[in-house]
Amino acid sequence: MSAIDTLPPLRDVIAQHGLSARKALGQNFLLDLNLTSKIARAAGDLTGADVLEIGPGPGGLTRGLLAEGARHVLAVEKDARCLPALDEIAQAYPGRLTVLNADALQIDPLAHLTPPIKVVANLPYNVGTELLIRWLTPANWPPAWDSLTLMFQREVAERIVAQPGSKAYGRLALLAQWRCDARMVMHLPPSAFTPPPKVSSAVVHITALPEPRYPADPAILERLVAKAFNQRRKMLRAALKGLAPDLEDRLIAAGIQPTDRAETVGLEQFCALARSLQP
Ligand code: SAM
Repeated sequence: MSAIDTLPPLRDVIAQHGLSARKALGQNFLLDLNLTSKIARAAGDLTGADVLEIGPGPGGLTRGLLAEGARHVLAVEKDARCLPALDEIAQAYPGRLTVLNADALQIDPLAHLTPPIKVVANLPYNVGTELLIRWLTPANWPPAWDSLTLMFQREVAERIVAQPGSKAYGRLALLAQWRCDARMVMHLPPSAFTPPPKVSSAVVHITALPEPRYPADPAILERLVAKAFNQRRKMLRAALKGLAPDLEDRLIAAGIQPTDRAETVGLEQFCALARSLQP
């Protein structure tokens, strides 16, 4: 295996700093630096970009991001035990790595960065979806970030890129694909991690579009989609009951049959319906 930097192998780093993995923090580490460099490359050209990494752990992906030329990496890690290992990386890349010992759910790290901004992370599974929804629903669009390159449980990744008619299609697909391009870039088996998790993982690359694909009010679209998929096996005339007195006419005008189920309806139709519900 070729070295990507002059720092010690990650197994040694973990042993030296006593970083035994904690399940409660979603700690499944990537120790193969060629793999972490490959994930960093999936984010595109990093030179000239600020990168936000959530959950650097012992720093495998952080080293990949820096070796691939990121202008600056801001790494937010909740577990203070990782700080000495991350400090060694900061010293090897002077001025290019800032580490924040914080809970990523409690702060707005994007505010600390200079565009263009890319978010790259092997996310802790317990907070991954919440962070993604936050990044996909900022107060204003386009968002502060250009792209998100994120590792998820494979099922979550499939829900992000899903198309109508598939089991995985739902709120997350519509939310991600309304204002972004989202594609699957890599599958990883449990054996890629130490310790191996119970499930497979996948990396998704999401690029922000300058404008939504179809106009709609974000709050109305979100409420509509949440209601439609809350009872995904029900016909929409029943699942959306109460939204408007003339609901069936509005559904038809939006190109949706009242007997359709949410899982077969495309983004364009949901946006048309959201527009018709706008006061
Ligand atoms: N990036 C490392 C890698 O690829 O080997 C570690 C990934 S591990 C799946 C998730 C990391 O997120 C852990 O280091 C964990 O301590 C950290 N973490 C968990 N919850 C967090 C939170 N709320 N805010 C910031 N970091 C968190």
